[in-house]
Amino acid sequence: MAVEAQKLVQKCDYGLLKKKYEEAIKDENFKKLVSKIDLPEKELMKHTSSLEESTQELKNCSNCKNMAFCKNKIKGFVYYPVKDTNRLRFDYIACKKMKKELKEKEYSCNYYDIPEAIRKASMKDIALDDAKRISAIKWLKNFYDNYESNPHQKGLYLHGSFGSGKTYLVCAMLNELAKKKVDITIVYYPELLRSLKEAFETDFSSRIDKIKKVSILFLDDIGAESVTPWARDEILGTILQYRMDSALPTFFTSNLNIDELEAHLSSTKSGVERVKARRIIERIKQLTDNIELISKNRRN
Ligand code: ADP
Ligand code: MG
Repeated sequence: MAVEAQKLVQKCDYGLLKKKYEEAIKDENFKKLVSKIDLPEKELMKHTSSLEESTQELKNCSNCKNMAFCKNKIKGFVYYPVKDTNRLRFDYIACKKMKKELKEKEYSCNYYDIPEAIRKASMKDIALDDAKRISAIKWLKNFYDNYESNPHQKGLYLHGSFGSGKTYLVCAMLNELAKKKVDITIVYYPELLRSLKEAFETDFSSRIDKIKKVSILFLDDIGAESVTPWARDEILGTILQYRMDSALPTFFTSNLNIDELEAHLSSTKSGVERVKARRIIERIKQLTDNIELISKNRRN
């Protein structure tokens, strides 16, 4: 193309960019956003569409009550203009609510499908009105007191009647340890299996990896899941083997005692598989002390 013609095209493009920009800046929010950027209009004009996107995302944020309803392209983040010497580029920046959540995470554990009341449980709130709970409470207190000097203590297999406070007690202690920045994961075991079944390959392996390696793991309500060979041998078996080899504390609660759990794990749709169930039970026994908690049902 001749030089003259090229210049003409550039001029035309510039005219279009300018027109689009002038149209966009009629919007008060857009105007407010660009006024904060210390760059010439000529540079800003090249990014009108992106700036409009940022304006819209910031507007979503200003109307946001809860991150669960985030309307932005990436939940919890804002597509935001950043000055890079003489140019403008765009980054995804954590929104206020996300920043707060990330900050809180530093101090707390990862919970998967654990009710809010139990996430907030603390040792000082544990009711001491029932003598049957004392041995479990003492065990937990002892674990807590010794954790810093010995992070490779055995965990606990706490089993007993429905609603007796098993999940609550273990969480109350782990929540306290989390405040000391111990890395903890608490998962409602049946839901973990359900969600893993639906997870994508890469997400799946990274989740299993985190669960395997976390300093303290609590698998809540084992025995309430429907057993498949895959869940038992590939998921549970793999996690427990790793934790045994690395001497990482692991907690379980269950409505089943250990023999009942063995029976539960041995019956799958494809028949009775005692040897494989036994292998899991042996690992649980190596990983934990065993305490029974029979107490009144505290639900409702
Ligand atoms: P389990 O796991 O044994 O079935 P939970 O731990 O879920 O029982 O406890 C049942 C209910 O009782 C929950 O709503 C829990 O918040 C409440 N709860 C249990 N222990 C206590 C406690 N020590 N103080 C206050 N509430 C408790
Ligand atoms: Mg429970």
